[in-house]
Amino acid sequence: MTEKELLMFFKSLDRAYFIDGPSKALAGLDHALPIGYGQTISQPSLVFDMTWHLALERDSKVLEIGTGSGYQTVFLAEFGGSVYTIERLQELAVPARTRLEGLGYSNIRFRIGDGSGGWPEAAPFDRIIVTAASSAVPVELVEQLAIGGRMILPVGIPGDQDLLLVVKDAEGVVSRRVLTKVVFVELVGKYGWDGFED
Ligand code: SAM
Repeated sequence: MTEKELLMFFKSLDRAYFIDGPSKALAGLDHALPIGYGQTISQPSLVFDMTWHLALERDSKVLEIGTGSGYQTVFLAEFGGSVYTIERLQELAVPARTRLEGLGYSNIRFRIGDGSGGWPEAAPFDRIIVTAASSAVPVELVEQLAIGGRMILPVGIPGDQDLLLVVKDAEGVVSRRVLTKVVFVELVGKYGWDGFED
């Protein structure tokens, strides 16, 4: 995936396709927008940056936690090899699947449920992206990251998170660095924000 290829695809995609309801009219803005059920579709520029830092390759096996509208998923399916995406809310997962299949993608597997523990039966993954924020890096996801793999995820407290890039090198040594500050909705479950006010 070159930056030019990513930019061309990014510009060709109409975010309105991924939104139902009142937010649709605002799809062209570079903002996160409500998609119902207390959830949001991510800001386009952030989706671009997260995709870029994932450094997808044509044969990358990718795990996504938090399908949401499917907007980020389409970038994974376009530039990766196979995509495994998990969404806990059926109300969002079902229309997202319809949208992605409607675009002709056949390299995506869908799961409805809690993705905090990853997708162990399909591991290891070359790339992992979490699009909801946790209080700590989920150990299960680090374990499911392949040698040479990269993971992007927001970690922090409500309203204030670091977007982390976690890399597992050829020796299996795991390192992390902060890419930027972000604000995401909660990764509900084991790594959620119990004890914090939302
Ligand atoms: N990237 C998505 C998009 O552009 O539409 C936005 C994802 S939204 C910010 C985060 C999503 O993570 C929500 O749809 C939420 O329901 C989902 N989510 C939260 N906790 C989850 C969990 N434990 N397992 C799976 N999905 C979860």
